Amino acid sequence: MSNLDRRPAARQLGGLGSTSAGPALDLLPGREVLLGESTRVRRLLPTLGRRMVGAWAFVDHYGPDDVAAGTGMQVAPHPHTGLQTVSWLLEGKVHHRDSLGSDVQFGPGELALMTAGHGIAHAEQSPVVHPRYLHGAQLWVVLPDADRETAPAFEHHPVLPGFTSDGLTTTVLMGSFGGATSPGTAYTPLVGVDLDLVAGADVEVPLEPDFEYAVLGATGSVTVEDATLERGSMLYLGTGRRSLRLHSAAPARLLLLGGEPFDERIVMWWNFVGRSGEEIADYAASWQEESDRFGVVVGYDGVRLDAPPLPPVPLTARGRER
Ligand code: MN
Repeated sequence: MSNLDRRPAARQLGGLGSTSAGPALDLLPGREVLLGESTRVRRLLPTLGRRMVGAWAFVDHYGPDDVAAGTGMQVAPHPHTGLQTVSWLLEGKVHHRDSLGSDVQFGPGELALMTAGHGIAHAEQSPVVHPRYLHGAQLWVVLPDADRETAPAFEHHPVLPGFTSDGLTTTVLMGSFGGATSPGTAYTPLVGVDLDLVAGADVEVPLEPDFEYAVLGATGSVTVEDATLERGSMLYLGTGRRSLRLHSAAPARLLLLGGEPFDERIVMWWNFVGRSGEEIADYAASWQEESDRFGVVVGYDGVRLDAPPLPPVPLTARGRER
């Protein structure tokens, strides 16, 4: 999926100004955003008060939506720079095509990881014949300055590591958790884990005290330490935690996201991450001119998305100094 907003806000993110120096338990309710004509998503990051969690800079939770009668997800070709997209499904199927020639359908439990680096274009659609329900999360990871011009790449990992213990089943999307390491390529120390709890589960999971964390509620209702996390909301957990207590009366699914606080300041606008307004304007112009930076999505039969008009004020990576 993508940012389909026709008037996207420019965001100045990163730096340590919004990183909690210790444990926190801040509820982020998310806000509803319309993608295209029919798909509603809940945007958890960025929000006004919380901009990044480690290198995770964008979190949309969508569904479960009944797409039996419709075309489901339909995101036309659009570009990305300077980030990775992490696509995670709980239900349904998505067909990914990109300008490298990747042509992959993926489903629940599989990782679709696209490294935009210097530049890539992709399209995402529900297959013509698709499951009834569509439910997932679209996540972006910001690339550090040293790697943000890396060559674009697409990875599909149909099988991911994890463990089952005390009513908890984990699937490691990115990074390492509980001794299991994802095959997905990461450029900063970070973690993304699906936590599947049976009814009555009461567990304590290990955390890295140097990481900052947040947890997204995907299904059910879970007691996280002293807070209640409902479906479609996120809890920011701060730093300095060595473990996290989870209790669920009914079956529930969570997504735990964390990483080393991201101290570089970035500019994020539409589907681009850069370091200055000039860079962002250059990316937008390159997309509109159909330059070689992004290429052409192979096999997509339709019209690509236009970049929205740039905001009237210059974009700067302003922020608190370390
Ligand atoms: Mn996208």
